[in-house]
Amino acid sequence: MTHETRSTCCYCGVGCGVLIAHDQERITGVRGDPDHPANFGRLCTKGASLHLSARPESRLLHPQLRSRAQDGRRGAPRRVLWDEALDHTAQRFAEIVRAHGPDSVAFYLSGQLLTEDYYVFNKLAKALITTNNVDTNSRLCMSSAAAGYKLTLGVDAPPCSYEDMALADCLFIAGANPAVAHPILYRRIEDARAANPKLKVIVADPRRSETAAQADLHLALKPGTDIALYHGMLHVMIAEGLLDEAYIESHTEGFDALRKIVREYAPDTAAVLTGVPTADIVTAARWFAQAGAALSLYCQGLNQSTHGSHNNVALIHLHLATGQIGRAGAGPFSLTGQPNAMGGREVGGMAHLLPGHREVANPDHRAEIARFWGVPWLSPRPGLKAIDLFAGLKRGHVKAVWIACTNPAQSLPHQAEVRQALAAAELVVVQEAFADAETLRYADVILPASTWGEKEGTVTNSERRISRVRAAVPPAGEARADWAIACDFARRLGRELGLLAADALFDYPDPEAIFDEHRRSTEGRDLDIGGLSYATLERQGPQQWPYRVGASGGTARLYTDGRFETPSGRARFVPCRHQGTADRTDTAFPFALLSGRMRDQWHGMTRTGTVPRLFNQEAEALLRLHPADLRQIGLDEGGLARVANGRGSIIVRVKGDAGMRPGSAWLPMHWGERFMSSAGANVLTPASVDPISGQPELKHAAVRIEAAALP
Ligand code: SF4
Repeated sequence: MTHETRSTCCYCGVGCGVLIAHDQERITGVRGDPDHPANFGRLCTKGASLHLSARPESRLLHPQLRSRAQDGRRGAPRRVLWDEALDHTAQRFAEIVRAHGPDSVAFYLSGQLLTEDYYVFNKLAKALITTNNVDTNSRLCMSSAAAGYKLTLGVDAPPCSYEDMALADCLFIAGANPAVAHPILYRRIEDARAANPKLKVIVADPRRSETAAQADLHLALKPGTDIALYHGMLHVMIAEGLLDEAYIESHTEGFDALRKIVREYAPDTAAVLTGVPTADIVTAARWFAQAGAALSLYCQGLNQSTHGSHNNVALIHLHLATGQIGRAGAGPFSLTGQPNAMGGREVGGMAHLLPGHREVANPDHRAEIARFWGVPWLSPRPGLKAIDLFAGLKRGHVKAVWIACTNPAQSLPHQAEVRQALAAAELVVVQEAFADAETLRYADVILPASTWGEKEGTVTNSERRISRVRAAVPPAGEARADWAIACDFARRLGRELGLLAADALFDYPDPEAIFDEHRRSTEGRDLDIGGLSYATLERQGPQQWPYRVGASGGTARLYTDGRFETPSGRARFVPCRHQGTADRTDTAFPFALLSGRMRDQWHGMTRTGTVPRLFNQEAEALLRLHPADLRQIGLDEGGLARVANGRGSIIVRVKGDAGMRPGSAWLPMHWGERFMSSAGANVLTPASVDPISGQPELKHAAVRIEAAALP
């Protein structure tokens, strides 16, 4: 008999509701949940084929251990029972911690994990082992957006709702391609345009993306010149008297210092820096400032930069200077990449965070959470952020790493270094659902995890909306829920280390008990969900935080009273200036390589790569180049190109695209060596990071491109 179970799509941060059709054992179909406020029944191609990815033959089904040869090389995996796998791992972790200290081990998590999974892993590292070495692939995704909010508005909280797209008169889409990366949100934009012919859509993107092609104004800026563009727009707003002086006066601080900097960015100067015509900068500034409501939508184009935090800050300045915030249809609205990058930050599952948006660097926050968890203290030592974590592994400071639900051997920049780090590590534990992930080649311990359709918990989407994820069928093979694996390991590690409190610290009967503890940790904080429970979510459906005790519903919009979460209650203008990219093009490496997403693939394709119909859009990674560049290199459409720099080289087929800026190339980030005869884009991307957020510059690398033949 077929049933339907209500859950949430596991791909992107839109967080669409799904209804999973299934019998006792198998998932047979999926459709959009008509009652879910993120999508009202719509699904994109990836969401609509989720059921096709639920195939046992693509899954890891049993725990496995690999032994090492005398020279350290890893042997073939050997199937073992869960007890042996977890006892062995607990013994090895305990040996390493005893010999080298708590910071010799690390956890690398994922924005695909559920909030409950994240909560337990974070507690395991910070309360039991007393290391802050817990980071996540969300560091590659949203950490600059989080830093931008915190620097300007005081806390990491997107202030808007999806419904604002229908209420705006100007949409400023920057460093984002929602037509491809957030398709269901783009449908809202299409609806808004149909309903409001006066709506102006501006897209700032170095290439004429699918979204830019539909815009009223496309600002084709040079890569890495975002700050110059926004300062140029602010310069116009100041010069033409388009500011909301009353808002600046009543609700912000620091504008005078920024005003002095912005004087350097007259539109002609900004035009030279960005490559955007002066008249277009002026038009964009006027449309933005004069709109009844202006909404910015932005994503990795801003974030994946060595100045990603300031890219975000400079864009938020435009809202603060014009009072375009805290009102229906207005505000800065970061689009989250992953389904639960938000939830991971809420529980503090990053190297610099603690639960409830608290911070490791704050002694009061450490004391609060130590009391809350019932442990003597929490380490003040800064944890290693993603790039530093793998650098530490390569140098040998970090001996053991536990990787859950992510594939760093494909997704981190400067792949050669990451793979050397994994090869050199004393112990690599990989907790994963899919059997093909590249990182498994480096695993000493392989732990099969349950995945979408098999697990229970919650996720938070881009608009702060918490949705339930529900199990429709039992886990494949011997796979277990991520939170349950972490708890089982934590209790065993506690016994190995003589920390018997571990049994009580990790005594959760189910994910609801974890959610309840998380809920209590947020009380009194900006993201307070003290009034939310699984029962409330069951009764009322997905809810936006904050949802305080006694509230009857969540909160659609923040800062409606003009008060911000800073000590003064005022939003901050933060001085910042234009900076270039980490890699500079030159005669040796004359092309700017940009990386991006496609509609029908997701991340490193561990899931979408198992669904044949998702290759219909494009069967292989194609390097887009301007036709003039193709001719100059001597390449024909569909020919093979070698793309190289000092970090490595790959071979890909080329496609002419008149929407590319001459001198730049674009490659999807999804493909790796499992799906083509060459490695993928991240062989070439630099490990250079934003000094504030730690987010790497995955969007840009300087490369040489030449005609090639397959090896
Ligand atoms: Fe899933 Fe995102 Fe597509 Fe919605 S837009 S169905 S969340 S991939």
